[in-house]
Formats: sequence, structure tokens, C-alpha cells
Amino acid sequence: MSLTESQAPANPEGSSERVQPTDAELVHLIGLTSSELTTLMTERGQPAYRGKQIARWLYSKRAASPSMMTDLPASLRTDLDTWAVARTLSAIRMDAAADGAIKYALQLRDGLAIEAVYLPYQDRVSVCLSSQVGCPAGCTFCATARMGLKRQLTAGEIVEQYLWLQDAQPNRRISHAVFMGMGEPLLNVEAVIQALRVLIVEVQVSARNLTVSTVGAVPGMLRLAESGLPVNLALSLHAPNDGLRAQLVPTARAWPLLQILSAADQYRLQTGRDVTYEYVLINNVNDSEAHARALTDLLDGHSGSVNLIPYNPVQGIEVYEPSTSDRIGRFRRILVAAGRTVTQRMRRGLAVSAACGQLAGAGGAKTSQRHIRRSR
Ligand code: SF4
Repeated sequence: MSLTESQAPANPEGSSERVQPTDAELVHLIGLTSSELTTLMTERGQPAYRGKQIARWLYSKRAASPSMMTDLPASLRTDLDTWAVARTLSAIRMDAAADGAIKYALQLRDGLAIEAVYLPYQDRVSVCLSSQVGCPAGCTFCATARMGLKRQLTAGEIVEQYLWLQDAQPNRRISHAVFMGMGEPLLNVEAVIQALRVLIVEVQVSARNLTVSTVGAVPGMLRLAESGLPVNLALSLHAPNDGLRAQLVPTARAWPLLQILSAADQYRLQTGRDVTYEYVLINNVNDSEAHARALTDLLDGHSGSVNLIPYNPVQGIEVYEPSTSDRIGRFRRILVAAGRTVTQRMRRGLAVSAACGQLAGAGGAKTSQRHIRRSR
């Protein structure tokens, strides 16, 4: 199906009278590559170079709407304004932590809310992007899980989060992006692949600086490998056996650990990129020495480093606590002694609930417009 057929609004009566497109029918220009915009323009009888012009406005000059694209003919701008949109997100709220992390609650056109986090480090600036409104994975330690899945984000809505954060924080270039915000990215794999493509090709983010996280959605892992985009994969294990994993990550029941690890091996082979194993450490749940030894055995023969994440407390999930530093140290030493490279994720944004597993979409439901506030 052509872009025109799939995205442009149709007049059901077949008359020449213009029908106002619904929100769902509007073409979201952000989220399309320059060559897709070229196809869109030529299908509508415009010269091919208009596609590149529009891409420049979207990704370099950061136009918020077609009417701002002043080197397009006025008639084209007026026409675009009737069936296409550029920027669709608006800020509901901003919370800044003393460690520099800033969490933004962003409102989508349909009133639902998502969260995205700005994470400045000494040597780089990263952002944490959402891929769904809510999440269907149901991880029992995660705030987002309690929302359930409200809807999938489009590629444009994912890319817009990056552009929005860069515009809000213009002093340093955002060099890295992790798909670790709200949602399980590989349960929305086509939109995520398209967003990655746009970030790499149009926004010039290096593929090596892009990381997609997954709880092990095997079909999505294989699809991402097949896409040929050499991005990093972070595989969230959180348990060394299927029984405990099913308690912590209920969707895991669909894909046993051995199947997930074999998909990760295939990902590494096909893309040449490393896979990192993520492991959230929850006190007295999955952080014993026996768990560490079982994890060592499980990963035997599968290369990749292990990233330990001290559990970030979530209001309303009092049953879990972060592991003590003693237990983290013991767990880590067992993995290192087995020859595994181990890193420990820095806890950023904890004070504003922007850390891993704490995003909950400003309440999750439709949110009324509030003033942006900064809390320090
Ligand atoms: S941890 Fe990630 S995959 Fe699991 S429920 Fe939360 S957002 Fe979804």
C-alpha cells in the first residue's frame, strides 16, 4: 500500500468536497524518513525534492507545523495543514532531580500521557524513551505495569520524545537513547524499528548509541535482528530460572529462558552487536549467592556483560525492597569470579521517580493540562 493510500485521509463519498480528517487519519510527518517523505510528496503530485525540504524542517529546523515551513509554496503549506501534522506532544509536567535527571510527562494528541527522561552524564547525554502508553508485560516490581497497556505509540511519537527533550535541553547534544521508558519496545516492534531508522538516518544518532531493552519478547528480538539496524540489545533477565522469572516477569511464561538466550545469540550473530543482560536486584527475592551461581550457569556459553540494577522502590509495591550493598557485593563477586564482566547501573532520577521501573505516565489515565513545574 502506498503512503497516500495508507495515510492520507479519504473522502468516503468520493465527492470533491474536502472532508476534515480525524486525528487518526492525520499523517504524522515526524516518524517518516526523507525518502518516505519524498514518496509521499510525489504521490501527491509535488516535485520529489519537497520530501528533503520537509525532512530538513522537521529534523534540523524543528518546525512545529507545516505552516512554519516557509520555503514551501504557500498553497502546499495550506494543503499540508489540512491532512498532516508535525509536532503532536505537549508538556504536562517536568520534575528535575538534584543528580541532573529530568523527567517530563508529555501529553499525546488523544490526551493520554507518557514519560521520557533526560539523563546528563559527564561524558554523554542520554534519554530514556517510552514505546507504549502503559505496558502489557506486567512485571510485578514496576510502576508502569500497573497501568496495563493503553495503546501503542507510533514511530513519530517515539521520535518526537527525543526531539522534544533536545529542544527542552538545548545546551548539550543528546548522543544516546535507551528504549527503557514506559512499555516493552519489542511488543511494538515495527514502530520501534521505524523510530530507530529515523533517529539514525535523519537525526544522526549513532546506532551504537541506541539501546533497545526487552524482557525477552522472542519474535520481536528476531524481527529487530532481521531489520539490520546495528543497535544494542539489553535483555532483562531478573531471575536465573523460569519459575522465579514467571513471578517477576509474568509475560516470561510465553518464552522460556533457554529460548530467549538462543534468540539473543542469534541477535548477536546477525547484528554483530553485544547483548547486555540486565538483572534488577531485589532484596531476598533474587539476590542470594545461589541465585548468582545459577545465573552464572545459565549464561555459560552466552557472551555478554551483566548489568546489575539495584531495585528502585515504587510507591504501592511495598513488598519489594532494594538489595543491601552487602548482598549486591556478594552477588557481583560470584559473577566476576566466573569470568563475567559486570557493571552496576547508576541510580539516576530516583528522587523524582524517573529511575528504571518507576515511570507511570502522570497517573496513567487521561491527564488534565497542568502547569509545568520544576521541583528541586
Ligand atoms: S519493567 Fe519494562 S517490560 Fe516490565 S512492566 Fe515495566 S515497562 Fe513493562
